[in-house]
Amino acid sequence: MTTSSSVPRADDADTDRLKALLEEAVTDLDSQAWSDLWTELYHNGSLDVAHPLLFHTLADLAEADKAGPAASALHLAGALLVQADQRHETRNLRHQYAPEVARLLGAANRWRQVTADRNDYCHLVEAILNLEGDIHWAEGLVWGVVSEEYELECPDPDGCASLWVIIGERGYFCAAEDYALSDDIETFPLHPADPRALEGLGRRLYDLALADGHEEVARALTYAFGEATCPECERRFSVAGQVAACST
Ligand SMILES: [Zn+2]
Repeated sequence: MTTSSSVPRADDADTDRLKALLEEAVTDLDSQAWSDLWTELYHNGSLDVAHPLLFHTLADLAEADKAGPAASALHLAGALLVQADQRHETRNLRHQYAPEVARLLGAANRWRQVTADRNDYCHLVEAILNLEGDIHWAEGLVWGVVSEEYELECPDPDGCASLWVIIGERGYFCAAEDYALSDDIETFPLHPADPRALEGLGRRLYDLALADGHEEVARALTYAFGEATCPECERRFSVAGQVAACST
C-alpha cells in the first residue's frame, strides 16, 4: 500500500488521458483523437463520461465557428447522453450537465439552419433529438434516411422475416431479402404518410426540414413515418414504429 502523492492514481491518469484527447480533438478535426474518444467513452467506457471536462469542452466546440468540430462534438455528446439514459435508466448525466446540454442544443439548432449538406443536416437532427432525450431511437431513424434503407424485423409476433425498407434512389418499397444480393425478388410498395396528416415527431421533423430548405429530407420522412407491407405475411406496419421497436 502507498499513500505517496508521487504515485499517480487511476483517476488522475484518466483525467490526463481525457484532457490530451480533447486538446487534440479541438485542434485537429481529422486526428485519431475523435475515434479514440468514441472508443474510450462510448464503446468500451474506459473513460468517465461524467468527467467535468467533457461536456464543457464539447459545448465550447459546438459553439465555436467551425462546422466540422461542432458536428463531431454534437454527435458524440448526444450519443453519450442517450447511452447513459439507457444504461442507468436515469437521466442523471443530463441533470448533472444541464447547462452544457442546453448550450449544445442551442448550438445544434443554430447549425441546423445553416447546414446545406443533406447528410450533415440529418446528423444534426439526430444530435438534437439525442440532446433533447425524449426518444432513444433517433440514431436508427436518421440512419435510414441517410443510408436510404432500414433493416427491420417484421412486427409479426413470430418474427416472420427480416425486412429491407428502401427509401430513395433505388425506389420506395419493402423486400424480405437483401435487395442488393438479388435482382429478382418480390417487393411491396411503401405507403408514405400524407404530409397534411402527419402528427407528433413526424410532423415536427417534416416541418423543420421544409423550413430549413431540405425538401428531399422532408419527402424521405413521409416514408419513414408512413407504412410498409411485409412481403411474407402481408402485415402492414408503421416504419418508424418498427424502427423504435427494433432499437430497444
Ligand atoms: Zn411478416
